[in-house]
Amino acid sequence: MAIERTLSIIKPDATERNLTGQIIARLEAAGLRVIAQKRIWWKKKDAKKFYEVHRGQPYYKDLIVFMTSGPIVVQVLEGEDAIAKNREVMGATNPVDAAAGTIRKDFGVNHQKNSVHGSDSPEAAKKEIALCFKKAEIVG
Ligand code: ADP
Ligand code: MG
Repeated sequence: MAIERTLSIIKPDATERNLTGQIIARLEAAGLRVIAQKRIWWKKKDAKKFYEVHRGQPYYKDLIVFMTSGPIVVQVLEGEDAIAKNREVMGATNPVDAAAGTIRKDFGVNHQKNSVHGSDSPEAAKKEIALCFKKAEIVG
């Protein structure tokens, strides 16, 4: 297995409920290292750019409203098999389908307010990291 990087977001439903630290603890316990992190509040144009591939989906408009409704924490995670490992720790998209002990099972509110984002492929990770961080902000 290779050392990979992936883009993680702690979503507005989780920052609102003060769950940032608890979520980071889960990621770290799984062997993922936070090598870059910042708390930001997206404008509509930021969310639209990030979720571009979802444009046209029935949930897209509401997703943009949700992702700009409060602060988020964007992170670069690094570790062995980081992309798949993060998806495993996150759990399935809809919290009702997520496995026991996953972030989305324990903290997710519903299909939309599911507390976290994680890149789903090496290509997506590269693109999403570049969208959210300058090279100099990724400090290791
Ligand atoms: P994931 O975040 O697990 O990669 P997707 O890429 O399919 O899931 O969707 C992106 C985000 O859009 C989800 O995390 C969720 O917030 C929202 N979303 C996806 N499908 C739905 C849906 N059917 N209803 C409401 N929100 C959804
Ligand atoms: Mg996705």
